[in-house]
Amino acid sequence: MLEEIEKLLALQDRDQKLRTLRLELQAVPNEVASKQKLIADSAARLELARTRAKAIEVEKKSLQIDAAAKRDQISRYKTQQLQTRKNEEYTALSHEISNAEKIISGIEDKELALMEEADSLAPKIAAADKIHADEKARMEGQIGLLREKEGNLKKRIEEVQQSRAAALEGIDEELLERYDRLFETKNARAVVSVEHDVCTGCHMKITAQTSLALRSDKSVISCPQCGRLLHLPA
Ligand SMILES: [Zn+2]
Repeated sequence: MLEEIEKLLALQDRDQKLRTLRLELQAVPNEVASKQKLIADSAARLELARTRAKAIEVEKKSLQIDAAAKRDQISRYKTQQLQTRKNEEYTALSHEISNAEKIISGIEDKELALMEEADSLAPKIAAADKIHADEKARMEGQIGLLREKEGNLKKRIEEVQQSRAAALEGIDEELLERYDRLFETKNARAVVSVEHDVCTGCHMKITAQTSLALRSDKSVISCPQCGRLLHLPA
């Protein structure tokens, strides 16, 4: 095999590794963000349940104030009844008292419904709390692993970059430019083997002339179809 081709194969090996490592590194922030979103989602579900529980407390207090006001009104009506001597007024007050009692009863029904809702909410909050705590711990663990992976990938990329720099040595500049262009445009495969006279880059049969030139092993041969640099199987 031509020395140039051997060197380019070594370079291509580094470049392919770098490409894979860089893709993996690029994916890390998205992976971290998706874990963080899961934590935020479970926190939001917990918050929703807690917000409703707080709203129930507020509503209950407001109902209690309304009921207390109605009870005050009733006792005022009763005082007025004791003071009045007019039958008509007495009856009107009795009517007011009965109305106020009906309103109080309605308020108490609402309070009861709210208390039932609060009771059924309590275990839901506890469950959401636990789910959130578990989810958070699990996701933070996974995020920690991703950060570790990120660090390892960066280290590995640095190592491969160094070995790539070493692999560049002695490669003709013009040939290197050709290789770089092919690597970028031909799906990270600039140098490919020919198997049974077929280019493994484009899967087209090479001509007898190209095959002969390749076998003579005297110069760098490229595929007439895809332009990739060719070598015979090692
Ligand atoms: Zn080809």
